[in-house]
Amino acid sequence: MRIFKFGGASVKDASGVRNVCRVLQTVGYDDTGIVVSAMGKTTNALEEIIKKYLAQDHRYIDLIDKLESEHVSIIEELENACDGEDVDRVARFRESGIKKEISTIFKSLTEELLRNKSKSYSFLYDQVVSHGELMSTKIVAAYLNSCGIGLQWKDARELIKTDQKYRDAAVDWEKSERLVQQHCSDGLFITQGFIASDVNGFTTTLGREGSDYTAAILAYCLKAQSVTIWKDVPGVLNADPRVFENTVLLNQIPYNEAIELAFYGASVIHPKTLQPLQGKKIPLYVKSFISPEDPGTVITDTATIEPYIPCYIVRKDMVFLKISSRDFSFIGENNISDIFQELSEHKMQVGLLQNSAISFSICIEDKYAKLNELLNDLKTRYQISHVTGVSLYTVRHYDETALEFIEEGKEVLLKQRAQETLQLIVME
Ligand code: ADP
Ligand code: ASP
Ligand code: MG
Repeated sequence: MRIFKFGGASVKDASGVRNVCRVLQTVGYDDTGIVVSAMGKTTNALEEIIKKYLAQDHRYIDLIDKLESEHVSIIEELENACDGEDVDRVARFRESGIKKEISTIFKSLTEELLRNKSKSYSFLYDQVVSHGELMSTKIVAAYLNSCGIGLQWKDARELIKTDQKYRDAAVDWEKSERLVQQHCSDGLFITQGFIASDVNGFTTTLGREGSDYTAAILAYCLKAQSVTIWKDVPGVLNADPRVFENTVLLNQIPYNEAIELAFYGASVIHPKTLQPLQGKKIPLYVKSFISPEDPGTVITDTATIEPYIPCYIVRKDMVFLKISSRDFSFIGENNISDIFQELSEHKMQVGLLQNSAISFSICIEDKYAKLNELLNDLKTRYQISHVTGVSLYTVRHYDETALEFIEEGKEVLLKQRAQETLQLIVME
């Protein structure tokens, strides 16, 4: 088996869905499991719906209607023949009943919200946002089937089992392995990224951008020969092309190096994706869905990154926190342990840390909007100063030219140099 993953950008509109078919026809699709994310920015739209719903702002209904019409218009575009397409294809797509299925999914979403009694934001979040992946996989499956690429649609919640940590669920590997092997061992199938279910069958999610991770979980469970994630970039570049000019394609990356890059925030791969693959030495290809025949990047059991050049990563909108004791006494192990306990309780991810005798500096990401709670708790015991909206730049394999380039014209709040990694906290 091989696993392919198509992200939100690759299925953001009708031409994206048509392109998935073109990719499969170009590279082949025997014994392939296909993982698809929600279309375009659907997950963000569903997050907004939950926000309004919980604020008892009835305009959430308008947002549901808007999202429904966006999905319907993609279906309607696919109901038309394009570029001399076979009319039978169009007829098969129209007869698939997909429009009705999507309308049923939206109706059940509205009814679920009206019926909902849970006050838990994270639980509700997972029950609602999962609709994005369910819809996209239904539409892509109907389209591919109409093109003669016969595949089975699978519900990822019947394949991947997790704990009940909604929004960031941990995989139950034993159960998932058994289920995946039972349901997916042969033939072509399509399933949702990002979503899974708990022991009671309630939907859970694996963290934002978690569809890459789903692909890795399936590959691990099936001992697949490879995973390919199809992107709008030629592969993994030495920097995000939205932020940096003149980026260079990395042809080959060792697993550990890719884990480092993802950990520091190279958002092209979800950080949890690589560990299951490394365990079974399954190569991960990152390729362009625009030029599927190009080699892209391979992340594998190789010794060194090739080419060996500086790699730049920037994480924006971070918080710089400086913590010292109230009486200027030393910050000791017990304080550090206490601070980390607080960070973990408030689900803060640490991007950089530095300690001196009397202070402890960290750069954190406030992913779950818990900064004020954290500050209030820490202020009871420490003296705190904080700056929001800073950027954290990381340069792997830096040299003096990279150092000059990255510092140029920036107000640097903190600089840290290790052998392979340079980090800067910058005021933007
Ligand atoms: P998906 O559609 O799979 O969700 P993403 O949008 O999450 O895709 O990831 C692709 C984007 O990641 C690219 O458009 C690019 O802007 C960004 N990106 C960030 N860092 C890198 C990098 N080092 N190499 C390539 N792309 C990167
Ligand atoms: N749709 C989810 C998200 O936008 C998962 C993913 O795209 O990987 O976060
Ligand atoms: Mg994504």
